[in-house]
Amino acid sequence: MAEKITFAPLSYTGWGSLNYLSEEVQRLRGQNILLVTDPFLHEMGLTQKIIAPLEALNLTINVYTKVVPEPPLAVAEELVAYAREHQSDMVIGLGGGSALDLAKLAGIITVHEGDVKDYLNLTATRKLLHKGLPTILIPTTSGTGSEVTNIAVLSLETTKDVVTHDYLLADVAIVDPELTMSLPPKVTAATGVDALTHAVEAYISRNASPVSDALALQAIQLISGSLRTAVKDGQNKEARIAMSYGSYLAGLAFFNAGVAGVHALAYPLGGQFHIAHGDSNAVLLPYVMGYIRSSCEKRMKDIYNAMGFNSSYLSQEEASHKCVEELQRLVEDVGIPSSLKGFGVGEDALTSLTEDATKQTRILARSPMPLEKEDIFAIYKAAYD
Ligand code: NAD
Repeated sequence: MAEKITFAPLSYTGWGSLNYLSEEVQRLRGQNILLVTDPFLHEMGLTQKIIAPLEALNLTINVYTKVVPEPPLAVAEELVAYAREHQSDMVIGLGGGSALDLAKLAGIITVHEGDVKDYLNLTATRKLLHKGLPTILIPTTSGTGSEVTNIAVLSLETTKDVVTHDYLLADVAIVDPELTMSLPPKVTAATGVDALTHAVEAYISRNASPVSDALALQAIQLISGSLRTAVKDGQNKEARIAMSYGSYLAGLAFFNAGVAGVHALAYPLGGQFHIAHGDSNAVLLPYVMGYIRSSCEKRMKDIYNAMGFNSSYLSQEEASHKCVEELQRLVEDVGIPSSLKGFGVGEDALTSLTEDATKQTRILARSPMPLEKEDIFAIYKAAYD
């Protein structure tokens, strides 16, 4: 089957890659730059690493600092109004997926008619017609892979929705692990399991290909080999570097192969209970994989091997069970609650969570095992107890 493979955008990776920022801003001819970030990163001075070298080039920089985790539509609309008002000609996103996704939206919607809501996937009334402002994305978490994907995720009242188009692809991604050294253990854990989920779901996706498989398996190896250390000892440079590469590769993998059941069930948890994206994925990962295990035993054996275990003496079925156990162990070892109860979700919410997850048909279609309403409810129920 023919397939489209995207390796955009131009990327700089590895320790010190932020040094390429000025060169890229000049190449892309930014003069009046919008920096999108969150208030915490601004207060802790991380934004100065962007602002200082650009001010030295006499460029104008407007800093938008109202990004919040799991951003709602209203913040995206406000940001686009800000970018239009300041006549920005380039956007830089600095932060976790929340800041990067909003930066993508500022880049594209600012130069189109209407509001962000007109372009949301589930309710779109307008189409994106052309590329947006030049955009540079600089992640400070090792998680979402947003710097290399064509999607921006927003939180709506009870679920999440996306704006997605290749016009949202950044021009440049700068993935510098040094920027992740200040991540606290809890955020390291949640974002790290998010990245692992991207790789695992890309590997078992119905859209997987030899290209996405290579990216996903390498990501699984890097993340499962370094996440515990990065959580325990945030100053461990080697672990931070491995996580940075792992999340970047996982982003490329899922951008090409897509994500599946875990994400479809995680979105309503974010929407209804405001649980961070990484935590929602983490709590569900072992339960979804346990439920669909029999539909992808061979692939789960590969994942088990990529996690550093030897499955040569195991049947595919045995290895797939062990894979689920190890995923569960990893989630627990990095301190993430292993049940929905642990996140304060009541049993009475399982029906409405199921209703909302069922609507994620585009994502569910990639699951190797078809997930109907009763399957989704059964997974939530297992994750609840
Ligand atoms: P986030 O951007 O919400 O950040 C989480 C917290 O970490 C924030 O409080 C932030 O201030 C803090 N933080 C970030 N970097 C830090 C650092 N270096 N030091 C200290 N603190 C730091 O978290 P996230 O998980 O990266 O992003 C989540 C968002 O990304 C969600 O909205 C999710 O839906 C979206 N997402 C997007 C994609 C995509 O492809 N576009 C993929 C997955 C998830």
